[in-house]
Amino acid sequence: MLNRVALVTGGSRGIGRATALALCRAGFEIVVASPELEKNEEVAAEIRSCSGRALTLDLDLANLESVKTAFGTALRECGRIDVLVNNAGITRDALAMRMKPEDWDLVIRINLSGVFFATQQVLPRMLKERWGRIINVASVVGRSGNPGQANYVSSKAGVIGLTKCLAQEVGSRNITVNAVAPGFIETDMTAKLSPEVKAKMAEKIPLGRFGRPEDVAAAVKFLASEDAAYITGQCIDVNGGMYM
Ligand code: NAD
Repeated sequence: MLNRVALVTGGSRGIGRATALALCRAGFEIVVASPELEKNEEVAAEIRSCSGRALTLDLDLANLESVKTAFGTALRECGRIDVLVNNAGITRDALAMRMKPEDWDLVIRINLSGVFFATQQVLPRMLKERWGRIINVASVVGRSGNPGQANYVSSKAGVIGLTKCLAQEVGSRNITVNAVAPGFIETDMTAKLSPEVKAKMAEKIPLGRFGRPEDVAAAVKFLASEDAAYITGQCIDVNGGMYM
């Protein structure tokens, strides 16, 4: 069987790490790409310890040259990228009135422009192969809005729009483009919240708890699989029912 390669941006921890491990168990060779070189290596070591194949890459999505270099290396070393998981993302929260221009720019640059430029790097090869899976990690707030997150919400709503646009552009070449929209997931991103805030949020979630990175990874793994071959342009909510 063909050895398919999956590249996970922000694969060093949280949802990206869980996704890298889940795709490895599904038989993919994994490229772990983030600016956290030591953590990338730790994830790669975990993958190799269960007989998987992994490559690590230094990737800064805020920098187009870094994106081009990292993806060039991945394509050279692995020969192909069949699945791109645009997972990396950051927050810089503030009420709109007080949001600093640099915090607006950085979040849009990493969360939205980063997804676009990373996707541009993999499309030529996927178009040639007539097979590809692009899976973008959006957010529940990209659907619902959220006070204090104008930059982040705009980036994630943009990712959902970009997903639908790309799905229409490349569908005829058997490339699917989908998104997952996680709710509140237990990672470093939500670790900053106080226990009181977390308890209040959990009350609003029908399933009564925050999600685990593995809950999101399972949806990504499905979208990367042959079973999802006829699904494109969709955004799957993985949010415990907090937004319907
Ligand atoms: P996390 O903070 O644990 O991990 C973020 C990842 O992004 C890390 O691997 C980090 O190295 C990488 N990253 C940061 N800046 C980068 C850059 N400039 N270039 C490349 N990589 C960079 O976050 P997480 O909770 O695992 O989030 C993963 C994705 O899920 C993000 O897109 C986030 O917006 C989204 N999400 C998370 C939640 C949640 O509750 N945790 C909810 C909805 C959506």
